[in-house]
Amino acid sequence: MSITHRPNSEALYEEALLHIAGGVNSPSRSFKAVGGGAPVFMERACGAYFWDVDGNRYIDYLAAYGPIITGHAHPHITGAIVRAAQNGTLYGTPTELEIKLAKMLKDAIPSLDKVRFVNSGTEAVMTTIRVARAYTKRSKIIKFAGCYHGHSDLVLVAAGSGPSTLGIPDSAGIPTTIAQEVITVPFNDLDGLKAALEHWGDDVAAVMVEPIVGNFGMVMPEPGFLEGLCKLARDAGALVIYDEVISAFRFHYGSAQTFKAFQDHKAIEPDLTALGKIIGGGLPIGAYGGRKEIMEQIAPLGPAYQAGTMAGNPASISAGIACLEVLQTPGVYERMNRLAIMLAEGLQQAADQHGIDITINRIRGSFSAHFCNHPVTNYEEAQDTDGERFARFFQLMLSEGICLAPSKYEAWFLTTEHSEEDIKQTIEAAERAFAQMATR
Ligand code: PMP
Repeated sequence: MSITHRPNSEALYEEALLHIAGGVNSPSRSFKAVGGGAPVFMERACGAYFWDVDGNRYIDYLAAYGPIITGHAHPHITGAIVRAAQNGTLYGTPTELEIKLAKMLKDAIPSLDKVRFVNSGTEAVMTTIRVARAYTKRSKIIKFAGCYHGHSDLVLVAAGSGPSTLGIPDSAGIPTTIAQEVITVPFNDLDGLKAALEHWGDDVAAVMVEPIVGNFGMVMPEPGFLEGLCKLARDAGALVIYDEVISAFRFHYGSAQTFKAFQDHKAIEPDLTALGKIIGGGLPIGAYGGRKEIMEQIAPLGPAYQAGTMAGNPASISAGIACLEVLQTPGVYERMNRLAIMLAEGLQQAADQHGIDITINRIRGSFSAHFCNHPVTNYEEAQDTDGERFARFFQLMLSEGICLAPSKYEAWFLTTEHSEEDIKQTIEAAERAFAQMATR
């Protein structure tokens, strides 16, 4: 199969450009970094597949940048959303559903004494920072280069993911007074963190990190990194914030902080955690939570304000509960893991066969494939990979009906709905793509 033309997508893109800034409602959907042109306009999605407006089918590894871990239109989740909608989509009052999802999150992530629901990962992270500042009465934040924490002012400094893809890791529109409040350190670099804390320690409210990175490819912390980070931060009187918007419920039923690859879970427990994506089952959601005395800073208990008309809406909460219920099914994570191993090994072999350098960072059911001949353990190494090769691979895979994220920094996500046959077809497509890439 080769999809060479998508006239309907092209026409819709022309039209979208007239009405929507850049033609897309999130810059990471643009094809700017992979040769430009019209992004594919999808019409429908079910399970592991998309169908575009030209009638082409694609195997989806984008999973909407993470949330769609149970595949598209999963009947258990769709049913929950329909029931919620029939009961009224938004009340502006508390509901019992919110307690249920809060308890499910707390059971899976013990560092959460209390949680709050918001509408996006951006909001969740933004509020953890406010709460940390209120609690410590300090203002500076340390973050790690290439980690992406949403689009609030403070964290659009050395941001990975979309900002890096488009070459704007430090966004315009952020006053220098705000940018000065953020200190950036390389990921996996405890000496760098130590030096930053020695210099600014008394002003640092929090050290924020993606404990397992998903935004400059998938990158594991080196052994001892999270332990060291927590210790250094606490010795300096700063809080530790984990941004688990991607990592929570991605690798197992729990989050990075409870991942069995880490030995000493107490030593890596954060003070605050930001959540999003999977916990909303494909509807808009975010959540943050952490230690009771810190969460008590939030209004109406405390002086730090955070609110939301849509926060905790019954549709998102119901979808989240349903999604987590699906993920409680025995064996689902093992199956995604097994399929991801098959796919990552198949890609590696196909690349080797054609003499194409590729570094695959796989963590359970997700991985990133970097066109380079060196390891990728931090942002610098992720930047130092071949974007043009990635762009060509991306386009060739798309013409084969394989949908990846249009960025060399984004991950491939397996879902509970991918089949062995999908993996086989994807490897065969990659073999043809690499063969073409090897000829020029
Ligand atoms: N934190 C991380 C780690 C993310 O990956 C993202 C989104 N990719 C966000 C925060 C922001 O989430 P949202 O797009 O829902 O605002």
